[in-house]
Amino acid sequence: MSQVVLSIRDLHKIYAGGVHAVRGVSFDVHEGESVAIIGSSGSGKSTVLRCINRLIEPTEGAILLRNEQINTPSADVNEVRSRIGMVFQSFELFSHLKVLDNVTLGLRHVRGMSKEEANEVALEVLGRVDMLERVDAYPGNLSGGQKQRVAIARALAMKPEVILFDEPTSALDPELIGSVLQTIRGLADEGMTMVIVTHEINFARDVADRIVYMDHGQVAEEGPSSIVNEPKSDRLKKFLSSINEEH
Ligand code: ADP
Ligand code: MG
Repeated sequence: MSQVVLSIRDLHKIYAGGVHAVRGVSFDVHEGESVAIIGSSGSGKSTVLRCINRLIEPTEGAILLRNEQINTPSADVNEVRSRIGMVFQSFELFSHLKVLDNVTLGLRHVRGMSKEEANEVALEVLGRVDMLERVDAYPGNLSGGQKQRVAIARALAMKPEVILFDEPTSALDPELIGSVLQTIRGLADEGMTMVIVTHEINFARDVADRIVYMDHGQVAEEGPSSIVNEPKSDRLKKFLSSINEEH
């Protein structure tokens, strides 16, 4: 088996109000692997990703990046975030910056690259997400799908060891979802290590190497992508049939 890039061990998160959102979650992500996290709204999926990227502190548990614990006071948050990319549902682009400058920002300020070096990297990753023609546009003039591809390029530019996606298509109009899923699928084919929280069960089945099903803050079932066709637990069966009813 290939090397473990990311290891989540017995993670708990109790929010200030007392909600125990994550209750002992553990899983590993191997080099080149795509892991999809599925589960109902409120099951704790975003909380897990936010703990990994240190947007919030877990109440208990360890997160290891290449065997080194990163949720400690001494681990440098900026370094962690440059090694673990994150793509959000709501894109989180700077509206006052052009596409190119959104992508170069981290390269210049975190990586300390010159403008020329940063532009070169940015153009390469914008080409990979098919956004080269819009480098001078402002985010307000892009479709949601284009915005999300820029956000993916921004994450890629930092050459992260793993990218976390939190429902990357759920804010998009249906006709724009395909281009973003295709971009993510391309990254999976290239061997990018990824954790993808998604409602798109067919996408998860087709693209992910492994699926983690979360329910009420716990991993209720985990396995190869075939588990969405042959779920073992009643909880996953019920979740999958509730999704089918929606469509
Ligand atoms: P998911 O991403 O699976 O929808 P979340 O991780 O967003 O789930 O939320 C898990 C639980 O934690 C929910 O009950 C949610 O209401 C609660 N929660 C999320 N964020 C906060 C917060 N900042 N403060 C208090 N409770 C929160
Ligand atoms: Mg969420």
